[in-house]
Amino acid sequence: MAGEERAVSMDQVVSLAKRRGFVYGSNEIYGGLSGFWDYGPLGVELKQNIKRAWWRAMVQMRDNVVGLDSSIIAPPAVFAASGHLQNFNDPLVECEKCKRRFRDDDVESDVCPSCGGHLSPPRQFNTMFQTHVGPVADDASVAYLRPETAQGTFVNYRNVLQTTPHKVPFGIAQIGKSFRNEITTGNFIFRCREFEQMELEFFVKPGTDDEWFDYWRKERFRWWTQDMGIRAENVRIRDHEKSELSHYSKQTSDIEYAYPFGTKELEGIADRTDFDLKAHIAGSGADLDYFDEESRERFVPYVIEPAAGLERSFLVVLLDAYAEEQTGTKPGDRRTVLKLGPRLAPYKVAVFPLMANRPALVEKARSVYDALRPYFTVAWDDIGNVGKRYRRQDEIGTPWAITVDFETLENNTVTVRDRDSMEQDRHDVDSLLHLFLERLGPL
Ligand code: ATP
Repeated sequence: MAGEERAVSMDQVVSLAKRRGFVYGSNEIYGGLSGFWDYGPLGVELKQNIKRAWWRAMVQMRDNVVGLDSSIIAPPAVFAASGHLQNFNDPLVECEKCKRRFRDDDVESDVCPSCGGHLSPPRQFNTMFQTHVGPVADDASVAYLRPETAQGTFVNYRNVLQTTPHKVPFGIAQIGKSFRNEITTGNFIFRCREFEQMELEFFVKPGTDDEWFDYWRKERFRWWTQDMGIRAENVRIRDHEKSELSHYSKQTSDIEYAYPFGTKELEGIADRTDFDLKAHIAGSGADLDYFDEESRERFVPYVIEPAAGLERSFLVVLLDAYAEEQTGTKPGDRRTVLKLGPRLAPYKVAVFPLMANRPALVEKARSVYDALRPYFTVAWDDIGNVGKRYRRQDEIGTPWAITVDFETLENNTVTVRDRDSMEQDRHDVDSLLHLFLERLGPL
């Protein structure tokens, strides 16, 4: 068994992510745009797999949660009601010498971390992106890019209640892009200006919110550490002090991860009370009361919100899976391996013909590849020797690799090599689909 060394650095993971096409800088050929990132062929697969895992746990497997996809741009009235126009501010300080800007809570003294110049007193900066809808850019056409998916859920709350049989307690889940004009971005994809959120708004009877808050706080920790396989020693729950709470929150707990740059938020769970629904009742005049048929009571539900960021999830999955290992006694016997759970791995299986210049091997390998592809993602690799191909697949986290060799042509068996143990077994070609479907479980 290979000797594993941990304590991963950001440089190692960023370099792998860029080298292997998980993440690219955005608009690089034009010099880039800070706070924006593009996801390459492997990144897009990993993102989809994370979203699928979240959706499965939060929507598909629950009787009382349904999905929604609301628009990204909304009129000012929505954000005036929600409080974002007035309160969604970050305190900004500016260096009087080099004019660089920082979030006040990111700098420890009144001296610029970049040039040592004096920093201005903090002023409030609204982090919503503004745009205009329609051909004329005037005050009447102002609209905003949403800073969270939640408001799109609240404005659709009545639609969902009226078009589904659900009763409180029930939830509406949404995965989608959000935008924040962050003052400082950084730590790779940890803080960006365009990002994706996976948010659930769970509507409950007032008075039962403490219980539900506690349920979701524990359930989300369980999901990260069990379903997603993130090492429990790297994750913790931190309850917010009263002074840290957002304008809408009664209580908040963060699920935090031990990133190489410090232990910071991965997901937030907030008790938003009836703040948002009441604000939209006042703002729109719509009737968003709920009539509880059992107790014959009318009330505005409270909302418990588990909100995770997809980019931070992506970063955590990579950091937690990354390892460099000594595989033998020689100094060159090393490999980089992503120990991703099979459900998260961009490719589930790789198929290699032992030699690329033997048509019989290539043809047989191609038939194995084609037989598996309809069921899950399969990589094809015929470049270089098989050892190199294993290393390439290890680096992108492919759990299993199949090699079609000369013995295959004689007895229809192939080798299946396991990424983590590096052991190889022979299996009949006709048994492969069943073997992998069983190992993968439901996708
Ligand atoms: P932070 O304190 O780090 O700015 P936040 O408390 O403002 O985060 P929330 O409003 O609770 O974040 O948003 C829920 C989740 O959305 C966060 O836990 C995070 O995963 C993600 N998120 C928020 N802002 C960003 C961002 N700028 N870039 C990437 N992900 C983000």
